[in-house]
Amino acid sequence: MKGALRFAIALSWLAVAVGCAGVAAEEHVAAPTDVVGCAEPHHLPAPAFGARSEADSGARVVAETDPVYPSMAREANVDGRVEVMALVCEHGRVVDARVVRTDSAMLSTAAMDCVRHWSFEPARANGQPVPDWTQCFVHFNLK
Ligand SMILES: [Zn+2]
Repeated sequence: MKGALRFAIALSWLAVAVGCAGVAAEEHVAAPTDVVGCAEPHHLPAPAFGARSEADSGARVVAETDPVYPSMAREANVDGRVEVMALVCEHGRVVDARVVRTDSAMLSTAAMDCVRHWSFEPARANGQPVPDWTQCFVHFNLK
């Protein structure tokens, strides 16, 4: 049953991967954004950044860490919020992250690094976990 499911997933991947004809279903096929924050192999196609989500339910954060405050920003009395879009793989790990809005450029890199350490409950389509982009907010507060 599990083997049949995996085979079906591999077939659906092949159906959308133009130019990959002839790849055996049992072979590992690397996803475009393979392994930054996840060591598991990825067999599902990652949606393009900005593409409309096809998931029935979005990814939800289950464990988040505080950002490392950039010393330059702290010394300049810069705080604020950064909006990051994170690509959460089917295992709930962040494999890509992009800043879409930031109160200061000094905070952007720290916000992306922060989100890459978060864990998620992955998005689901037809009951199966799928990779999907999800919106995250990282807050930098000066005390
Ligand atoms: Zn993964």
